[in-house]
Amino acid sequence: MESVACRGCDLLQRIPPLAPGARAQCGRCGQPLAVRHADPLDRPLALTVTAAIALIIANVSPLMGLTVAGRDSTTTLIGGALDDLLNPKARRRR
Ligand SMILES: [Zn+2]
Repeated sequence: MESVACRGCDLLQRIPPLAPGARAQCGRCGQPLAVRHADPLDRPLALTVTAAIALIIANVSPLMGLTVAGRDSTTTLIGGALDDLLNPKARRRR
């Protein structure tokens, strides 16, 4: 059993373990206290897929660009990190 204070009326209540898809409401004011989703993998899976897509987009999009005297230079997030790791002479100059 878990003790939860209602956000609406501050009544402290004990909530038994909920069945999948069930929800608990406050006995005094009816505010929702807890929800147990029917399929607990849907939300983490959707967030993981979204994070993977955002990671791919962040790594292939140019992070920064510089134009000096007609010369262009751009780098990506992973390109900047690899350049920093693979070019130790440039790191020492800083
Ligand atoms: Zn309440």
